[in-house]
Amino acid sequence: MNVIRTTPPRPVDVTAVFPQLAPLARPAIRLHPRPGDPSRHDSSIGGPLLWPADEPWPHCDAPHEGGGQVLARVRVEQRVRARAAAHPDGTPGVSSYTPEEQAILEQIDWDFERPDGPVPLLPVAQLYVRDIPVLRPPGQADLLQVLWCPFDHPEMYMPRTAVFWRSAAAVTDILTSPPEPFDVEHEEYVPEPCVLAPERITEYPNSLELSEELREQLGDWSRWQAADAGVDSSYAPYPESFYHSNLSVAPGWKAGGWPQWGYTDPAPRQCPACDTAMDALLTIDTFEWDSGNRSWIPYEDQAAASSTGQRHRDTQRPTAVQIGSGYKQQLYICPAAPEHPHIELMQ
Ligand SMILES: [Zn+2]
Ligand SMILES: [Zn+2]
Repeated sequence: MNVIRTTPPRPVDVTAVFPQLAPLARPAIRLHPRPGDPSRHDSSIGGPLLWPADEPWPHCDAPHEGGGQVLARVRVEQRVRARAAAHPDGTPGVSSYTPEEQAILEQIDWDFERPDGPVPLLPVAQLYVRDIPVLRPPGQADLLQVLWCPFDHPEMYMPRTAVFWRSAAAVTDILTSPPEPFDVEHEEYVPEPCVLAPERITEYPNSLELSEELREQLGDWSRWQAADAGVDSSYAPYPESFYHSNLSVAPGWKAGGWPQWGYTDPAPRQCPACDTAMDALLTIDTFEWDSGNRSWIPYEDQAAASSTGQRHRDTQRPTAVQIGSGYKQQLYICPAAPEHPHIELMQ
């Protein structure tokens, strides 16, 4: 962890206005991914995994129809972008291909046909519990690894994830060259290697998950005024949207916390194996923030967020992942038995 990101305090202590929300507070950890060079021993997005040499690498054997983005080319472009990001002042030639990269590109057979057989999964997230203490691993596990198949799947329209828990100390012989898919559905399904700057925050439910009574209160401007909470009067016609944008659920990649809703209404999340209500595990997000929730931009990124060009993009979409046309992929696990199958939703 070589970087720190600090979310500004929420503009209002919402529990002072609505004490009924206090018991619904949940911890979340914003991951704050930033392009970098994580090792197998770091928490990361899109970085190398600490994977045992004697354990088969996971594959997807579903049928895949799309594709066509050659992964070797995507990786070369990622390396060029990482060099450019490391030299923000624009060292001459930093964005040119090296001879090695040029050779990789020249070796690609652009008339390829995808090799038959199961597709090796790509690393998405590696989270050590020491960095992300909201995780509740089973048994002695202290490491969460999430991979995905970088293709759309029937009726999902997003990559399909696989979740693994393991004990880092048990991995003595490390797999150093995991198999990779030849091609992917979209470049945006290949996360840019990112280091993390985990930050613990507190979230409250999306208003769609609150009781009707509490929702009515959130929409009653006179309550906000009576509490003298200092909310900008431009929100008077729709104070619920102030709650939505600034006080409830953080945008961006995170572990734990409350789910955001909007693409659909809240959906039931019951464990397929034991019917227990599932917990939010990981949110994979297209954007770290947007124009409607800028109050969540960390202090350290505010200058870059106000700039244009690459610095702006690196701050808003550091992982380069895109879900649908700019949505989130939410993973849920069973709190009773984390090894039960997880579920995933697009929001
Ligand atoms: Zn697949
Ligand atoms: Zn279960």
